[in-house]
Amino acid sequence: MEKELTTDVVVAGTGGTGLAAADAAASNNLNVIAIEKLDQIGGNTRISSGFFAIDTKEQRAEGLHLSTEEAIKQLNEYNHYLNNGPLTRRIVENAKPTLEELESLGMGIKLNPTANTTQFAHRGNPYAGGSYHMYQDKDEAYPRIQKSLEDKGVKFMFGITMEKLIQDEDGTVKGLIAKDKDGNEIKINAKATVVATGGFGGDEKRVAKLMHTDRLRKLGVPSMGEGMTALENAGGVNIDSHALIHAAQLAKSKVTQNTSKKHLAGFSDNPLTRVLLTPLMWVDPDGRRFTNEDTVYDTVLWANAAYNVGGMYYILVDKKTLDAYTNGQEMEVSKAGPGGSTKPGDFVKLADEAVKGEVAYKGNTLKELADNASFNYENLVASVERYNEGIKKMNDTEFGKSGIHMKFDVEEGPFYAIKAQVAYLGTVGGVRVDDHLRVLDKNFKPIKGLYAGGANAGGYYEGQSYPAYEGLASGFAWTSGRLAGLAASEDIK
Ligand SMILES: Cc1cc2nc3c(=O)[nH]c(=O)nc-3n(C[C@H](O)[C@H](O)[C@H](O)COP(=O)(O)OP(=O)(O)OC[C@H]3O[C@@H](n4cnc5c(N)ncnc54)[C@H](O)[C@@H]3O)c2cc1C
Repeated sequence: MEKELTTDVVVAGTGGTGLAAADAAASNNLNVIAIEKLDQIGGNTRISSGFFAIDTKEQRAEGLHLSTEEAIKQLNEYNHYLNNGPLTRRIVENAKPTLEELESLGMGIKLNPTANTTQFAHRGNPYAGGSYHMYQDKDEAYPRIQKSLEDKGVKFMFGITMEKLIQDEDGTVKGLIAKDKDGNEIKINAKATVVATGGFGGDEKRVAKLMHTDRLRKLGVPSMGEGMTALENAGGVNIDSHALIHAAQLAKSKVTQNTSKKHLAGFSDNPLTRVLLTPLMWVDPDGRRFTNEDTVYDTVLWANAAYNVGGMYYILVDKKTLDAYTNGQEMEVSKAGPGGSTKPGDFVKLADEAVKGEVAYKGNTLKELADNASFNYENLVASVERYNEGIKKMNDTEFGKSGIHMKFDVEEGPFYAIKAQVAYLGTVGGVRVDDHLRVLDKNFKPIKGLYAGGANAGGYYEGQSYPAYEGLASGFAWTSGRLAGLAASEDIK
């Protein structure tokens, strides 16, 4: 062993979960070491935009009086009661004090107004859309948070990757083993260990296996899952890890990972993105229409519908529709996916470039398009005929798309099929925990000394689909981390 340290609480990972856990333990006068694989704090939480919380001062100031009971009910129902009921209750009840604590550490918060929510599908539902507490000036806020925690005595160690947990014969966790960038091993002995390493979204092979498709595109920091594997090896039961699938992107498009003052993470500079972000006709990889394209206005429903056809689908348009887009006659552009550039563009030219880049196919006839895109011709023709019929009547008898979006038929060649892929923002779900974020073994007994939260903890989501409540994962990270830190403090004392 090249280096050995001893502390009360060791926290692995410094996203929202790890930071909140470190804060809670340090506020209880415990010695805390927080190790982080990267060179800065924040993880995916730093990239995320906002925090789901109920009945906050920000909401009250807007005249919104939301009830935690109603929020819990909606989440339970959305999750079909596959979620952990006591955990869901504790998280929703503790989101507000956690948000207040985060503000006291140095994060500015501004409520996203419900009427103008980023996801049009959530307009008018204050629970899905009005609970999004947006982080302000993150580049300044995170260093402030780090300083606040250092002032409370938290010792940060960067460039350190957790590899294993230390467990004694009776299964009690006694700390962890990590490695620095040069491969030197570090042993950290601790009375409590919080594994807050944020899932395994960086491990594309593991995600492809879990999600049964290799057609998803990833966004986020490279969390490779050492923490999750260690939790499972220590006796934790991974009940519901899954990719946080979230909207879709044009295949191979350049989409920024970093939030700036101007754009949220997931912004694309290509005007063609507006074709992706409006409810045109979509077909599966064999040329069949498969869903109500209005789902484009909700990140989760959109991703779910497209995941249902393997995570990749095609937007079907003819030249006349592209010309209409060139002339600014597009439908309302969704804000549920990658931010679309508002620049004018020659959409036919852009689509032709996409064909050259092998992310779109073209055909002067539907037959030629089917051959080029490997669609089944009969499927394609049947879908197009039904769709065009629906457009004439402004009535989608197949999937019930709203009349105002039954606007652009697919009638005159040349035709284009533009490829889109579901995106995922890391993984969520993980090992079974109790409502204090203690990791449970297969017999539902706490593994002594071991805590998990955020994207390593299971039970907050249904297990396949992420609930469409804005800020849910990010809010869960901070709140579960804080509860884990409080539980560790209580258990140590
Ligand atoms: C682009 C993007 C946008 C998002 N937007 C939103 C949003 O607006 N609202 C929302 O609710 N959710 C959003 N999410 C999801 C949300 O951010 C995450 O689910 C949540 O932040 C996870 O928090 P965490 O603390 O568990 O993990 P993270 O914040 O990812 O932190 C984990 C930390 O652990 C470190 N780490 C990993 N492995 C190790 C190791 N072995 N040893 C040491 N350190 C390690 C990582 O480097 C990282 O810093 C978004 C995610 C992404 C990628």
